[in-house]
Amino acid sequence: MSKKSGPAKIFTALALLFTAAVLLFFSFSVRFSSFRRDLFGREAMGEPVLEVTFLYVGQGDAVVIRELGGRGRVMLIDTGPNAAADEFAAAVPVKGSTYAATTIIPYLEEKGVERIDYLVLTHKHGDHIGGVPYILRNFDVGAVYDNGTEYPSPYTEEYLKAVRETGVDFRVARTGDTLPFGENITAQFIGPLRRYQGTLYSDENCNSIVTRVVAGDISFIVAGDMEIAAELDLMAYGEDLRTTVLMAPHHGSHSSSSRPFLNYVRPEVGVFSAGRNNRYSLPAYEVIRRYEDMGAAVYRTDMNGNITIVTDGRGYRVSTEIGGLN
Ligand SMILES: [Zn+2]
Repeated sequence: MSKKSGPAKIFTALALLFTAAVLLFFSFSVRFSSFRRDLFGREAMGEPVLEVTFLYVGQGDAVVIRELGGRGRVMLIDTGPNAAADEFAAAVPVKGSTYAATTIIPYLEEKGVERIDYLVLTHKHGDHIGGVPYILRNFDVGAVYDNGTEYPSPYTEEYLKAVRETGVDFRVARTGDTLPFGENITAQFIGPLRRYQGTLYSDENCNSIVTRVVAGDISFIVAGDMEIAAELDLMAYGEDLRTTVLMAPHHGSHSSSSRPFLNYVRPEVGVFSAGRNNRYSLPAYEVIRRYEDMGAAVYRTDMNGNITIVTDGRGYRVSTEIGGLN
């Protein structure tokens, strides 16, 4: 057995160290790259202050807006469909249940959220208010914000019944109102700018509450099923509505995301919420193209599952449950 000389020992030690470093590097880069694949965003991410998650709730909408740190305020915009409203979608939730039970509340609990400060219901179609009764009866809700329309339907009836029974604070959202959120976060109702009359399906869509949340340089617009008439009205808002992230109104339907409106808000990211193999064939291919044509990154809940965007007010980062950019 030969005794190693001093330099040989050092060499062995260095070789071991090098091997360890290489192994460590690869294990990190493998982990990092598999994570990175799902990432898109502006650089310069510091401590995140706001997290916005577009949950996969079948053919419907549910968006969780959460202050990170501070008082941890939480806004939920829409509650997904109930089972009946989603019966024609491929993925039907547990019979007799709703995505509120299978997805929204479990998600909030996983995040340690104990209270929804603001439950904003953009409008009274089943794919947006279907989960309200379950949420009001099973979770702590600070206040419900309604668009103030009369829109009689079994969903409206069920929703208002749950409001009465639980005695939750019920308010009609007024355009221009600002809701208290984090220190450097503004949450404001910026639409609708007028009342679209009648009981037509499209009128109720146009009466969707439009919420804009701004954290520093990064902004989000969630507008329910707003259609082109409401979009064009918003353009007369007289304020710079440039936005970082736009949730494609009306699940990416032809009725919405008009080119003039997109040119006005110039989204960097377009998020589409739709059910897998839904019967309406949403989002419309042509509408997705409008976002892509202007260089926006496109994400869709039917393909990406839950989509989460975090921001520090200067940069932002998008991560998805499934896959990356489309
Ligand atoms: Zn809808």
